[in-house]
Parts: sequence; structure tokens; C-alpha cells
Amino acid sequence: MDKIDVVIVGGGLAGLACAYRLADKGLQVIVVERGDFPGSKNVTGGRLYLMPIRSMVGDMLDDAPFERKVVRERWSLFGKGNSLNIDFTGERFRGEDHSYTLLRSRFDRWLSEKLMGKGVFVIPKYRVDDLLWEGDSVAGIRAGSEEIAAHVVVAADGVLSFMAQKAGLRQKMVPKNYAVGMKEVIELPEEKINDRFNVGSNEGCAHLFLGDVTQGIFGGGFLYTNRDTVSIGIVAGIQGLMKKDPPVEAHTLMDTFKEKYEIKRLLEGGNLVEYAAHIIPEGGYKGIAKLCGNGIVVVGDAAGFALNMGVTVRGMEFAIASGIIAADTIAEAKEANDFTAKTLSEYGKRLQETFVLKDLAACEDMPEFLDNESFFSYYPDTFTGFLDKIMWFGDGPKEKIGATLWKELKASGMMSFKRLKELYNIRKI
Ligand SMILES: Cc1cc2nc3c(=O)[nH]c(=O)nc-3n(C[C@H](O)[C@H](O)[C@H](O)COP(=O)(O)OP(=O)(O)OC[C@H]3O[C@@H](n4cnc5c(N)ncnc54)[C@H](O)[C@@H]3O)c2cc1C
Repeated sequence: MDKIDVVIVGGGLAGLACAYRLADKGLQVIVVERGDFPGSKNVTGGRLYLMPIRSMVGDMLDDAPFERKVVRERWSLFGKGNSLNIDFTGERFRGEDHSYTLLRSRFDRWLSEKLMGKGVFVIPKYRVDDLLWEGDSVAGIRAGSEEIAAHVVVAADGVLSFMAQKAGLRQKMVPKNYAVGMKEVIELPEEKINDRFNVGSNEGCAHLFLGDVTQGIFGGGFLYTNRDTVSIGIVAGIQGLMKKDPPVEAHTLMDTFKEKYEIKRLLEGGNLVEYAAHIIPEGGYKGIAKLCGNGIVVVGDAAGFALNMGVTVRGMEFAIASGIIAADTIAEAKEANDFTAKTLSEYGKRLQETFVLKDLAACEDMPEFLDNESFFSYYPDTFTGFLDKIMWFGDGPKEKIGATLWKELKASGMMSFKRLKELYNIRKI
């Protein structure tokens, strides 16, 4: 069978970015995507940080259909019946192209159309079932009775990556390395979004929520403003959900979140236009797959390239960067006419030099650090509790603020060895 240069399994951001770079380098490439169109099965929060990938993307993102430029960051700690908010904006966040919100159904589709304009075949509704092998080398893909032979297969098939599994590149999947994300898109008039989130036209807000939104389970809530919709959702660790006693159904977390006073007001009058759920890699640096084998490389979520830093979730720019770097390595392998793991392993080495593996390595201890129920119940409850006491004026005389705070610090156990050790451990992340 004649071989094409590259077949990419998965038309998400990792696969499309890889195809874009390969096409620029003159390689023959086909992208196959099981969804009705690229973007139809892809879920993100979502905000894309542009700075880390700016020097890599060339003209790929020119005229991209971003929703809003994020100029306002909000974090909320939810206690039982109260909440504490931090609202941040800064000149350089407003001035520079730092990060943008986007909707994948629009964004990925747009990128795939741009790719087709470059002569790349992007085949939707095409679910790959298996890999083709020549000895110990991957040599293409099989979908039903059809086969496509290729020098290199790029596994860009997302977090569950059956391709990486079939190639024996993947670690055993364990619940603690994954979270489930649920997301709704709510339609609201543009002016209402501007008013409610205190932003101008085309400006957006990224809002993360911690505490009494996941019932003590690792995770949190998110809300991103789009042009005339908001994306709102919950992420919850699968291990935490499995251990929860009494058990809690993931979707009920979302329902209770939306019922909260603070959230209800933001969404008032909105119409639900989209609902999605998806798995997220949470294993960090230690959860990364083997990145290549003979005739195959793994990119994006399929490789485990996602980073939850507590204050933000990153996966999309890792997907784009890894796709581009994989493409550069494959182009060199083509020049050398050598598609063995030895040549393709250059991909991993290059990633080590970029933010992808540097940032993941720097936050290597983050998953263990966050695997602590206190961050999702005790601390939010305690901090919001302090404010509740300080701000409340009852019918008796008011104590000095310092005295109240000291009393509360002692009563809450914040001065205990356990808590001080937890706070001291923050330096590790
Ligand atoms: C709820 C949630 C919130 C998030 N928030 C953010 C955020 O705000 N910012 C951020 O940067 N990241 C965020 N992430 C992570 C980010 O969305 C992912 O890291 C990113 O989508 C990974 O892109 P990808 O191309 O690797 O995978 P995907 O987008 O999952 O693409 C994989 C593609 O492969 C296709 N596929 C799978 N199997 C097959 C097959 N057998 N045959 C053919 N096609 C196949 C799928 O249909 C899919 O289109 C979030 C994720 C979730 C779930």
C-alpha cells in the first residue's frame, strides 16, 4: 500500500496545529476526526494563553475567532453560605494579547477550514479503530474496513487516547490522574455581559471558584465570558468522586453551583444553549505518556499535557505547542527518511526546552499538593468565616477586629501544626 507522510488521529487543537505546521513544511497529511466536524466533540473552559505560543504559531492564529480578550480575573472562595472574592485587572492584561476566551465548536472548525484551504484533507465522522503495524513499527490506521498507510501516525485523540494505549505508550489509567469537567454555555446579551462583569465590548472576564462548589472534592468551578454567551462549569477529581461518602453524582454539583446566590445573579435571564462533559488529565508531569514509538508520536491531552495550577487550568496551549513541535520533528524524520523511535524521540527533547515540559516539571508536585480536602472545604470555610465574623454588627458591642481575628484563628485550628505545615508546603508549588 502507498504510504502518505502523516495521518493524524483527532481534529482537536493538538491535531490541527500539527497538521498546519506539516502542511507549511510541504508534507502530505490527513486529519481524521470522529466528530461531525472538528470542534463538535471538544470541550474546554476555556481560555487560551497566547504568550507562551506566540513565537511558534506563525500565521496559524491570524484572524482567529476569539470571543473576548481576558482583562479581568476573578477568584471566589465559597464557604457555607458566604463567599470571598478577589477581582484583579492590570494595564498589561488590558494592553497586550495575553489570553482570550474561545468556544471550541467555533474555533476548531475555523482552524480546520483554514487547514483545508492549504490543501489538507480533514475527514470528519471517521473513527479510527486500530493501528496498522509493520513488525514493531506503527504503519497507519484502520477504521472499519478502511486503512490508511502512513510513515507516521500522530495520536492527537485526546485524554483517553486509545491510539497511545494500542501503541503501548500509555501508563495505566488511575482515577487520581483524571477529573471530570461539566460545562454549560449560557446565552446572554452582549451588553448584559459587559455590565455584569464590568468589562468593555470585546473585553472578558475569567472567574474561578473554589470551596463549597465541589463538596470538599478536588476541583472547582469556572466561568468565562464569551461574546454573547458565558461558559460555566465544574471540574471534580474522579478519585474524590469515587471516595465520596455519601456518594455524590457529578451533575448535581453543577446544579447546586448554578443555584448559588452569587452565580444565579450572573446568569439571570440567560438561555442554556450547550451542555458538555469531558475528562481532563490531572496527573501533571508524572502522568505524562511515553511520547513516541516507531512510527508514532503522541500530542496534546493524549500525552497528558495539561496543568491545573489551582488558580488556572492550562491545556490548549500545550496541545498547540506539542502539535507544532511534533510536526517539526516529523519533518526532519522525513528528510532523514527515518521514522524510528530513535529519530522521533527528538520531539521529547525539544519539548524539554519549551514551556510545555518546563512548566509541567516546575509544577510536578502540584497534583499531590492539591490532593488535600482542606483546600476545598476547610480553608474556604475558615477564611469566609473570618470575614463573616468581622463584618457582622450584631446587637451587642463590637469587639476589636484584631481580637476577633485572633480568637477565630485559634478556634479554627489555623494555628495548629498541621495547618502551619500545609501553608509552609505552599513553597513547593
Ligand atoms: C471542562 C474543561 C475545562 C477546561 N478549561 C481549559 C481552559 O480554560 N484553558 C485551557 O487551556 N485548557 C482547558 N482545558 C483543557 C483543554 O481543553 C484540553 O487540554 C485541550 O482540549 C486538549 O486538546 P487536544 O487536541 O489534545 O484534545 P481534544 O480537544 O480532546 O481533541 C481530541 C480529538 O480526537 C478525536 N478523537 C478521539 N478518538 C478518536 C478516534 N478514535 N478517531 C478519530 N478521532 C478521534 C476527538 O473527537 C477530538 O476531536 C479544559 C478541559 C475541560 C474538559
